[in-house]
Amino acid sequence: MANELPEIANPTRTRAIMETYGLTFKKSLGQNFLTDINILKNIVAAAEVSEEDNVIEIGPGIGALTEQLAKRANKVMALEIDDRLLPVLADTLSPYENVEVIHQDILKADLEALIAEHFEPGHKLKLVANLPYYITTPILMHLLDSGIEFETIVVMMQKEVAERLAANPGTKAYGSLSVAVQYEMDSEIAFIVPKTVFVPQPNVDSAIIVLNKKKVKPKEPQDEKHFKKLVKGSFMHRRKSLWNNLQSLYGKDSETKEKMLQALEVADIKQSIRAEKLTVADFINLSDALEKMGIN
Ligand code: SAM
Repeated sequence: MANELPEIANPTRTRAIMETYGLTFKKSLGQNFLTDINILKNIVAAAEVSEEDNVIEIGPGIGALTEQLAKRANKVMALEIDDRLLPVLADTLSPYENVEVIHQDILKADLEALIAEHFEPGHKLKLVANLPYYITTPILMHLLDSGIEFETIVVMMQKEVAERLAANPGTKAYGSLSVAVQYEMDSEIAFIVPKTVFVPQPNVDSAIIVLNKKKVKPKEPQDEKHFKKLVKGSFMHRRKSLWNNLQSLYGKDSETKEKMLQALEVADIKQSIRAEKLTVADFINLSDALEKMGIN
């Protein structure tokens, strides 16, 4: 019975598995493995994983989180870049028939095709992962840009990045990443994870962030590409005002400036404000107003 096997997630077993296979942890791939079973269980609970769910995991490592997901989900598809770990995973996850490990770089993965190929329809789609920290932001952007509607994304990342994702307007941590994520999903930090529960230990503490599909879809910008350009450009020089950033983004000539002033007025945004004060809705309104003036 799968449930009676010793869990993968404990420091002694993790080191023993690595030793058996003659493996070292690759820092360049962000290999800090979780070895605390309670934290893993809390991650799975935060994602409310049930047998209704198909779950994608990024970076299974030696399978510690994958195992906990497999015990509760309908099916788990885990994408791992490090080919050295494939025989390990085949072994550690052999008791679980509902797991598929795919040798794949997440940033190059065509998730839509993989989902169609490996998951039966009619299930909720969730993503749960202890992310490789060196590419946290590119992975989040890849997931959001994929257009795939995840019911829930629960991911572990550096605490500082998690704080940016969950930040409210007007706070220091609020920036283009906060807007990009909060435009699509509701975000909340579930809990903080100390660095001591990883083997090897990373340099920073971590946090679990829960992203849930928005129940009420916000008004969509007329041109999403322009909206994203505006958000990025507005935070380009954080010390400068929104107005200065807009000039760097669209131009400083008097005609452009006049149009931008009118757009700010239409969107009910003060010229002197800083980008970090703007809500997602403000950015959408401004993007549409600029668009109407022919500025994009
Ligand atoms: N899930 C395991 C755990 O919680 O113990 C391991 C997490 S470890 C922080 C990150 C994992 O992501 C490693 O197994 C690493 O090899 C893998 N990884 C790194 N870059 C990747 C990429 N571009 N695509 C897929 N997996 C990647």
